[in-house]
Amino acid sequence: MIKKLLIANRGEIACRVIKTAKQLGIQTVAVYSQADCNAMHVNMADEAVLLGPAPSKDSYLKYEAIISHAKNLRVDAIHPGYGFLSENADFAQQCEANNLVFVGPPASAIQAMGSKSAAKRIMEEAGVPLVPGYHGDDQTPATLKKAADDMGYPVLLKAAAGGGGKGMRQIWHEDEFYPALQAAKRESMASFGDDHMLVEKYLTRPRHVEIQVFCDTFGQGVYLFERDCSVQRRHQKIIEEAPAPNMPEGVREQMGEAALKAASAIHYVGAGTVEFLLDDDGAFYFMEMNTRLQVEHPVTEMITGEDLVAWQLQVADKKPLPKTQAELKCQGHAFEARIYAEDADNDFLPSTGHLALLKPPATNAFIRVDTGVTQGDDVSVYYDPMIAKLVVWGENRELALSRLYQALGDYHISGATTNIPFLRKVANSQAFKQAELTTTFIEKFADQLT
Ligand code: ADP
Repeated sequence: MIKKLLIANRGEIACRVIKTAKQLGIQTVAVYSQADCNAMHVNMADEAVLLGPAPSKDSYLKYEAIISHAKNLRVDAIHPGYGFLSENADFAQQCEANNLVFVGPPASAIQAMGSKSAAKRIMEEAGVPLVPGYHGDDQTPATLKKAADDMGYPVLLKAAAGGGGKGMRQIWHEDEFYPALQAAKRESMASFGDDHMLVEKYLTRPRHVEIQVFCDTFGQGVYLFERDCSVQRRHQKIIEEAPAPNMPEGVREQMGEAALKAASAIHYVGAGTVEFLLDDDGAFYFMEMNTRLQVEHPVTEMITGEDLVAWQLQVADKKPLPKTQAELKCQGHAFEARIYAEDADNDFLPSTGHLALLKPPATNAFIRVDTGVTQGDDVSVYYDPMIAKLVVWGENRELALSRLYQALGDYHISGATTNIPFLRKVANSQAFKQAELTTTFIEKFADQLT
């Protein structure tokens, strides 16, 4: 039984996990850096330990220190949140080796999905449809270029170790191939210490639709429907929603089944997300699997009424899944808007500052705010500048969207520039109202967003 849980994270996700742990009567331990001495997650937890200076590598990424604190404090389990150590197979392995339950999949599953090319090979074998492309080991530039030439342009170069849209380049003509390859490799090496590349057919107007899966230690798996995360900037999600509007007939079920096939191919356990690109003809292709709880999990919680962190803890406790596929129901519609300290009028440059005023909209059964900061806190340069996730629910998409627009207007922040005005423009645009969702939404409808 998990009686004491250490949360190896900070910000809104640490607070989110602590909230559910408390509801379940589980004791909580926060970890923090010197920059976070007074942070909300530290104040919420029953105990807290200082890891070190502000930079992540000296604090939130120091996993030996985290494990040693966990042992000293007689912790049963570690929840990694998202980011930081959540997809570090070594960390998961070390937890298990030290008799600490890692609230996540087995290290082998993290490892299997850690490289986009290895992941694609596994999925190919399991019969999951893939984005056409080259994901081989031969990395000579001429081989990569030949793959692109044979496939036809445009293509997308991707870092096998990639994440956060880094190490990606679109190539529209063969003359651009070698310079783009060099640039993508350089960026990938700098970000991930690895420059292995994939070449994919670049789909010009797909949707990003992902399936939330959950598997237990008894080999059972379910999917908790899908999320549409097509509205992106530089391959980063801005507004997510569930369910995905206007899904072609039968695609939801087919995608759900494909996602479960993907999970079972790697003997998955816990919460996972299988990301697909959906073409306008209803064809869909596996992109990658994220072996953690996603930032956007609340929209799934809103439409299912389930608490995914509670599910994670239950599965980590080696209990069966709380519900069967037939018992899961999708109700109404939900949106999540990511509120960032950034300047939409200045190329979305991250902004920092002292949050002199921070007044979220009133929360109720339809409006939820997941945040890790309160009025008077600072947005520093050290971490992701996300201030909050605003999540709304409505009986249908139209109602949920009008609530989103309203709630964004009721979110008052001063001290740092935020993207709230930009999010309101998206929420209020004709294109978004009509759900004209593709991953190029922001560029395509730029005239509606000024
Ligand atoms: P990362 O792990 O860096 O986030 P992903 O593989 O998840 O990278 O892709 C991020 C986004 O890039 C996707 O949501 C989609 O918008 C876009 N993308 C990825 N692959 C393709 C492709 N083959 N064609 C078109 N867009 C793509």
